[in-house]
Amino acid sequence: MAMSDHHDDAVLSRQVRLLETLLEDKGIVGGDTVDEVIDGFLAGASLLNGAKVVARAWSDPAFKERLLTDGASAVAELGFASGGVQKQRLRVAENTESVHNVIVCTLCSCYPLRLLGPSPGWYKSEAYRSRVVREPLVVLGEFGVSLPDGVKVTVWDSSAETRYMVLPRRPDGTEGLSEGELAALVTRNGLIGTALV
Ligand code: FE
Repeated sequence: MAMSDHHDDAVLSRQVRLLETLLEDKGIVGGDTVDEVIDGFLAGASLLNGAKVVARAWSDPAFKERLLTDGASAVAELGFASGGVQKQRLRVAENTESVHNVIVCTLCSCYPLRLLGPSPGWYKSEAYRSRVVREPLVVLGEFGVSLPDGVKVTVWDSSAETRYMVLPRRPDGTEGLSEGELAALVTRNGLIGTALV
């Protein structure tokens, strides 16, 4: 199993803890500084960000094109650079009349945190990770999603280098809405693909 493709959370946590202790012991940073940086990052991780991206894509075809071509650069235009040391790719998968997309990380829990906010417990569960690949329609049904006959489901498996986000279909009857009003329609599960918007 290619665990090296993925971050091992336990190992990573120990390394971070060790680094933090060293920095504090050497007097380079105070313990509060590290916490503040982490809090700052988490405060910047919110579904509101992903919702803004989707509302822009629904309203601006040129932005949507850029988003589908190079997600990381497009969301950076709105101020949502991925952050972190490692440059990550963001692949945005567009739902259409004939294709419905779902994201998963089969090996751990990779997830576009900055755009979706903290991930739900079920996303990290063994049951979701293994079953959504094997029987996506059954899993979607359990989330209350039923797709018209003939719609093809594509499941995107995350990796340490690539995160995925679903671009939901713009709901009918929303032609007159502003970007802010459109953003309010977007849900976290809609961006994972376990709900329609
Ligand atoms: Fe992962």
